[in-house]
Amino acid sequence: MGDYGDRARSTVSHLTAFTVLLPISCFYKVAKLQERKVDMNSLKELSAQRPLDIVVVGGSLAGLMCGIALRHIGHKVTIIEEDEDERQSHMAGVCLGPDAVEYVATHDRLEKSFTHRSLRVQALKSAQSVQIFFNARREITSWDTYYFRLRAIFDQYTSSYYPSPPQPFDTDGRSLYLCHKELIDLQKAKDGNGGMVLTVFDRQSKEVTQSKADLVIGADGPDSFIRSKYLPTVKREYVGYIAWRGTVLESEVSSSTREIFKRSVTVHMMHRHHCIMYTIPGQNGSLEPGERLLNFLWYTNETSSSVDEIMTDGIDGHKHHNLVPSGRVRKDIWSRQLERARQEPLVEPFLEVMSKIQRPFIQVITEFCSSKASFEDGRVLLMGDALSLFRPHTAFSGTQAAFHALKVEEYVRGKIGLREWEEKMLRYSRLHFLQSIWWGKFYQHHIVSALVAGCHYWWHCGIDKLKSWWNGEASLLRTGSYTVEEYLES
Ligand SMILES: Cc1cc2nc3c(=O)[nH]c(=O)nc-3n(C[C@H](O)[C@H](O)[C@H](O)COP(=O)(O)OP(=O)(O)OC[C@H]3O[C@@H](n4cnc5c(N)ncnc54)[C@H](O)[C@@H]3O)c2cc1C
Repeated sequence: MGDYGDRARSTVSHLTAFTVLLPISCFYKVAKLQERKVDMNSLKELSAQRPLDIVVVGGSLAGLMCGIALRHIGHKVTIIEEDEDERQSHMAGVCLGPDAVEYVATHDRLEKSFTHRSLRVQALKSAQSVQIFFNARREITSWDTYYFRLRAIFDQYTSSYYPSPPQPFDTDGRSLYLCHKELIDLQKAKDGNGGMVLTVFDRQSKEVTQSKADLVIGADGPDSFIRSKYLPTVKREYVGYIAWRGTVLESEVSSSTREIFKRSVTVHMMHRHHCIMYTIPGQNGSLEPGERLLNFLWYTNETSSSVDEIMTDGIDGHKHHNLVPSGRVRKDIWSRQLERARQEPLVEPFLEVMSKIQRPFIQVITEFCSSKASFEDGRVLLMGDALSLFRPHTAFSGTQAAFHALKVEEYVRGKIGLREWEEKMLRYSRLHFLQSIWWGKFYQHHIVSALVAGCHYWWHCGIDKLKSWWNGEASLLRTGSYTVEEYLES
């Protein structure tokens, strides 16, 4: 009898689900198809007639990734960058998460490896006591290695990192990388074709020129001009702590220290502050043992007034906002911090590396997350750090840039409509933004505030899982999907 009752109940609930969910699902899918038609009409029609004229504002990692993806599908891409070609790295690492790995597999055209492989995340309690957190394969490179590689692919730029750039394919669109060009205004064109007019200031010649584009991509970083035009209230906010940073050649540290950091991301947790260390490529992207760099970071909570002092330039005394670059950190400030490291004390391998840093730099940790990614009916798009800036603990900014580049490509190809594109961009960014807050608070703040941040993040994980299941797609939360590989001691 109980069996019949269960079956009847199950049949009724299946029927209810079928009669209620099916029409909703059909309606939703038809609406999505409609939306795709409406959104892509103008851009799609245009690209059927000719390659689109696309301007990417900002020629760092996000802009280059997007530029390459769009060039590879035949469009004419111009990147405008306010800085110059030969740029200084912050000498810090960029981790290639799952979307960056997918991006590289799709758009990279060079053979030479450019990442150091780390196989686990571990905590160091003392010089002898290592606790393994979890095993996860992470490919880590440096900003400069990545930048010059992307330049070699985008516009065949020759550098000491990549002296022989790959030749473009016949199917590629034309590409231009223009330096010293700063976007100072952006308006809708008055010709009724839906395009945009960019006003650009040449920092060398001091000339101001105007040009037109079918599509403008805002990859102009955390202080984005484009974001400030359309979303003036979204601004970088200080999260309460800073990072003391620097790198040391592997060959300059003792063999025991080298051995500990060799193929791991290593954390040293203390009361509301922590250090982290990982290996990145050395000069000209070298991955040779000894020539690689150990990348040191120490996060400490600081009041706004102490930040004011710390951010004062060591040469001319002016105040930096977000970063004191290497060579400009005040000597007395760094010595004081080194003394604090000895007093704490930092665990010996970390202390050894910190005391050998010749050119430290200091980064103020800031964050924001935008609520919109497209403007002017999809003719202006935001991506990368211009859209949302994460705390660095999850090492996810470069991966976010890759995800955005792949999604912009799908949108321009007409594979997804504008609304779907924007929903995915924003959901992905918010998820990883909240995750970076949860991790940051876990390391730096009281456990209660960390748990509140954790709950907020897990709530959004639930929403993501539900939406992904509903759409029949993989979850947008990517940090759980790292490959595990055996850690061999040799
Ligand atoms: C020189 C440099 C070195 C870096 N080094 C590291 C590192 O070592 N490790 C790390 O994790 N991250 C580093 N980053 C940050 C890293 O690139 C980003 O976090 C991430 O890769 C995504 O970046 P993005 O391209 O969205 O933004 P960003 O890297 O901030 O790039 C934005 C670009 O837009 C340009 N720009 C801004 N406004 C305008 C305008 N109005 N007109 C024209 N151009 C404009 C900027 O000059 C910049 O090149 C570095 C960034 C730069 C610019």
